[in-house]
Amino acid sequence: MTAFPFDNSYAALPDRFFTRQAPTPVADPGLIAVNQPLADRLGIDLDGSDADLAQIFAGNVVPKGAEPLAQVYGGHQFGGWSPQLGDGRAVLLGEVVAPDGARFDVQLKGSGPTPYSRRGDGRAWLGPVIREYLVSEAMAALGIPTTRALAAVTTGETILREGPMPGAVLTRVAASHIRVGTFQYFAARQDTEALQALLDHTLARHYPDAEGPLGLLNAVLQAHAELVASWMGVGFIHGVMNTDNMTLSGETIDYGPCAFVDTYEAGKVFSSIDQFGRYAYAQQPQIAAWNLAQLATALLPLMPDRDAAIEAFTEAVNGFAARFDAAWHNVLRAKLGLSGQGDDDAALAFDLLQRMEQGGGDFTQTFRALSGPEPERAAEAWAAPAPFGAWLESWKARLAQDGVSEAERIARMQAVNPALIPRNHRVEEAIDAAVAGDFGPFQRLQAALAEPFRDRTEIVDLQAAPAPSEAVLRTFCGT
Ligand code: AMP
Ligand code: MG
Repeated sequence: MTAFPFDNSYAALPDRFFTRQAPTPVADPGLIAVNQPLADRLGIDLDGSDADLAQIFAGNVVPKGAEPLAQVYGGHQFGGWSPQLGDGRAVLLGEVVAPDGARFDVQLKGSGPTPYSRRGDGRAWLGPVIREYLVSEAMAALGIPTTRALAAVTTGETILREGPMPGAVLTRVAASHIRVGTFQYFAARQDTEALQALLDHTLARHYPDAEGPLGLLNAVLQAHAELVASWMGVGFIHGVMNTDNMTLSGETIDYGPCAFVDTYEAGKVFSSIDQFGRYAYAQQPQIAAWNLAQLATALLPLMPDRDAAIEAFTEAVNGFAARFDAAWHNVLRAKLGLSGQGDDDAALAFDLLQRMEQGGGDFTQTFRALSGPEPERAAEAWAAPAPFGAWLESWKARLAQDGVSEAERIARMQAVNPALIPRNHRVEEAIDAAVAGDFGPFQRLQAALAEPFRDRTEIVDLQAAPAPSEAVLRTFCGT
């Protein structure tokens, strides 16, 4: 029997935090994937046939110890306030405590309607499930804090999106699903008692060393400064950084319209619903700070002296820029193989990015080529010849100051500059094949992405930048 080490703490919070809601069974569950290494890490014993596991991960069989519920939250979506969102197509089965004591949410996404579904059907189609499985697991392998994918199943049901689509359910694992929007929800209702309970729960769970609202705010500011810097270091564009898609834990959540830049552009936007580029690549730090200002506002009712709190919180939020810059400069320094801190390191990195943008260089390939034995060839594949030689000389001069051997430089750089990212066109190819009933491309891509820093000849097609005809121009939330 499959057994989950459940120990549910969110279900013990006051009733107004959630609605108890069982998943709605589906017609004919079929197992697409189950993530054995993650199950091992969580202490979940997956004992059963594929058919048994499909029943569990489709929500047809609720495992022992689960207390399924839909969480309520609010949020700013593209800057506009929605007072009530919530799990409209997901249920939290419960929390598991792993052998090392770490606590994780286990959530079914696409599991049927809840009181928060509004006009939605509570379901997910196969495309977003495949995308989230591939990209969230790729992010984990890249060392970036993220929710994870424990399993994916088909439902045997057809749901209506742009057309009829196969239904699917993703099992998502997260340090928690507490969002900036969860705090906003209670603040907007002036429910200070609930806000205090949420603060206590969040601090105990994620930041046991932090104290009070300001302690939480500072910890979350630091976590997101580092998170956004790590996104930008791999060319990741989240695409829908609404406050309900921002976790208190500092994990990446919501892989709706996300995408990775191929050809580097600071202003790059993929999402079809991001008309004004609010969530463009280089906008992400500003948006994170804006979102965390909303968290600060939501925490204000917990402070005894409002004016003093406004001053302290404003200073804290204004400090995000410096936290981000420090984190981003560390990421860039590592990408360039630099040790120590030179005053001009960031300028050197920005100079490269600017030339890469002018030259139409592929972000991932350029950094990977710089990480090899022939860095002088890094710009060879750029679309337009851009001045690169002068930059290369400055970089070599800076490297020389570190006195690191060539072998050491290569080893270091290859450990942070991936050979493989989930390229948008490969993700879409895996989705198209899956919809046609072939999960081979998904399996292959997923296996390759587990080792993103290792070059091997079998995956050159997955590493390659898209040909102009293959390039993905737009991504869709496609829920
Ligand atoms: P998202 O765009 O994924 O951040 O979702 C925003 C809100 O819409 C959340 O409250 C979701 O639960 C809800 N939602 C999205 N898709 C559906 C769906 N198919 N059925 C019900 N609710 C949905
Ligand atoms: Mg969301």
